[in-house]
Amino acid sequence: MADWVQGDGQHLADVLDGGLSVAQADSMIENVVGVYGLPMGVATNFRINGKDYLIPMVVEEPSVVAAASNAAKLFRHGGGFQTQSDAPVMIGQIQVLEVEDLESAMQAVLDAKATLMAKADMVGGSIVRRGGGARDLTVRAIRESAVGSMLVVHLMMDVRDAMGANAINTAVEHIAPDIAELTGGRVHLRILSNLTDARKAKAWGTVPAGALHHDPSEAKRIIRGIVEASAFAEEDPYRATTHNKGVMNGIDAVVIATGNDWRAIEAGAHAFAARRGSYTSLSRFREDASGDLYAEIELPLAVGIVGGATRVHPTAQLALQLLGVQSAQELAEVIVAVGLAQNFAAVKALAGDGIQKGHMRLHAKQLALAAGAPVEMVAQVVDIMTREGQIRLERAKELVQQLSHTTE
Ligand code: NAD
Repeated sequence: MADWVQGDGQHLADVLDGGLSVAQADSMIENVVGVYGLPMGVATNFRINGKDYLIPMVVEEPSVVAAASNAAKLFRHGGGFQTQSDAPVMIGQIQVLEVEDLESAMQAVLDAKATLMAKADMVGGSIVRRGGGARDLTVRAIRESAVGSMLVVHLMMDVRDAMGANAINTAVEHIAPDIAELTGGRVHLRILSNLTDARKAKAWGTVPAGALHHDPSEAKRIIRGIVEASAFAEEDPYRATTHNKGVMNGIDAVVIATGNDWRAIEAGAHAFAARRGSYTSLSRFREDASGDLYAEIELPLAVGIVGGATRVHPTAQLALQLLGVQSAQELAEVIVAVGLAQNFAAVKALAGDGIQKGHMRLHAKQLALAAGAPVEMVAQVVDIMTREGQIRLERAKELVQQLSHTTE
């Protein structure tokens, strides 16, 4: 890794110190005026399906990386995380309006399913050559809406190692004229769905009671507290939203580090959390038959290791190399395990002392820096503010001034 050189000759140190040049950024989006830096850290202790991973995480929030690493260490005592994922199948939607006879139009689409799928494969390019392509095609009716009835066609397509937005959008646009002809209706929207529930990843793992506390009755109390917190999130949308935000702290950080589309992942995760009509938690925690803590999580995760920004962003390339994942599915499985670790860390802290204790020290560090403390003074300012229980910017400024005088 030390002599890592990217395709265009960028060296490791340059990539880690900002990564993206203004010229590269200019080729990615419009009206570029600069690049915006975020911290990238590496979470440790992750063992997933018996393999060790270093996890690159890009996040601005203190304590996320440390919490993920600590949680992974506890799961490691139980053998690490196990994961599973669906094939990388994306869903493309075609909206059909002004259909006279919904039933016979739906039948016509279903009768032409094989032809439509073969036609979609014609524009699948290298994805089809790599073993991907159309997997299924369904149609359903929405009988009442603000604009009357409509049909919705879903094309399911395996996009291999890509996130697959372009491939699925191209495919639905390509078969749309045939859908119009078959149904006698007017085709309107043709676009992927970000509710990628044919492309889910799940992770589970066990934290042995003994790893939580050396005193068995204390360990039992901790497990009970975590299970109670889980039950709260399973039943209450207000709690579930915050519970899932904790999941996404971990997930987004790896999604961003690897150059993937975090808005797509966020949209899919929350829609999936509401799939039963009421918003619930993406994970759950239980005490198992041996008295240990069992945790599991499942959500849609459409991430790629090719295409989009994964190829263009030098730091994303480095992050993928650090992870050493070989497929989009493996990346999704790593990400879902990080989500579970992050979630566990937050729930454990909340069910114990509360999160403020650890968080406030990190907050104090940020305040000390914001108050202008030189790096060598930060620890001292943090110590004093924590001891006094006065973690405020004004106090940090006073201390920086006082300490600067004493060292002059
Ligand atoms: P892409 O089109 O840049 O790359 C995918 C292409 O890479 C494939 O079509 C294939 O030609 C090629 N490829 C090479 N090796 C491959 C392999 N092993 N497996 C699969 N394909 C391989 O990328 P994409 O994944 O289609 O698009 C992702 C981008 O689309 C993201 O940046 C996302 O933000 C954006 N996007 C998202 C939405 C949405 O989420 N609603 C909509 C439009 C665009």
